[in-house]
Amino acid sequence: MNNLIATLTPKDFATDQEVRWCPGCGDYAILKTIQKLMPTLGRPKENQVFVSGIGCSSRFPYYMNTFGFHSIHGRAPTIATGVKLANPELDVWVVTGDGDGFSIGGNHMLHVLRRNVDMQILLFNNEIYGLTKGQYSPTSKQGSKSPSSPQGSLDNPLIPAVVALGAGASYVARSIDTEANHLSEVIRRGYSHKGAAFIEILQNCPIYNDGNFAQVKDKKAAGDFRVELEHGKPIIFGKEKNKGICLNTQDLQLEVVELGGDISQADLLVHNENNKTQAQMLSAMSGPDFPVAVGVIYREDKSGYVEDVQVQLEQIRSGGKASLKRLLHSGHTWTAG
Ligand code: SF4
Repeated sequence: MNNLIATLTPKDFATDQEVRWCPGCGDYAILKTIQKLMPTLGRPKENQVFVSGIGCSSRFPYYMNTFGFHSIHGRAPTIATGVKLANPELDVWVVTGDGDGFSIGGNHMLHVLRRNVDMQILLFNNEIYGLTKGQYSPTSKQGSKSPSSPQGSLDNPLIPAVVALGAGASYVARSIDTEANHLSEVIRRGYSHKGAAFIEILQNCPIYNDGNFAQVKDKKAAGDFRVELEHGKPIIFGKEKNKGICLNTQDLQLEVVELGGDISQADLLVHNENNKTQAQMLSAMSGPDFPVAVGVIYREDKSGYVEDVQVQLEQIRSGGKASLKRLLHSGHTWTAG
């Protein structure tokens, strides 16, 4: 790390823009965490690019003293792919919300994940459309009452981490807006990961969906409603650390069990962040029957789109097949009738 980079502080990553989120919005906490994380990554500000779509979370690039695009609704993954391909030296970040990322931009999200484009994708999941005044979103729980679902939403919600795994994501994690240390660590690991790192952040919208994640965030209650995954460790949770997750080998389903009596830690599932089948089951867990899993759910080393494109270009160049002149003089490709 050169001296100039070593002296960077969180303030160097903050802009002079007035932050325009509602008081108490979870986005503030996420912004602070990322501004604090940035100087520790050992990279100059000029190497960082934040790309967003449209929505409350998508105001993020205004507040980062880095390069950034506040782009088109749902299209941040596409623009970010172009940025990374044009200059692989840049660290590229996508900031998106549940509506922007999984409704308007659902299609684009799938492709950036399956291509494994090397970038960090931060999905602020508040389970509501905040900017447009509180309509239910693709991740809103069934029964959610909103201006666009006054009788309660009938839709089955998407679970972002489950969709990301299904699309072939090579790094999938989940964290919570106000848990700075936890959030910082899963983002740091995502940053070190080669490929598309998808990080779902449970984010409170105090205006239109306040307390939506109260159980998983509440200091006293959270022990019973969330489980913190650690690679290689048995999956234990509960305020008294007296519950765990095990795999029923008869029907291959997860089960919540109480420790004690016949059941010991040795009976519990051990988290293996390289096991995709297990990751799919863990990421789908939700209340009231199961705790919500947070932490690094899945990680896989596999080749990424950016490197593959570079290799292909090099092969074409070294094979002598790349000639603009030859292309331009290759004759007609169509015949006028
Ligand atoms: Fe945050 Fe909700 Fe306000 Fe949007 S509407 S800025 S998500 S509190």
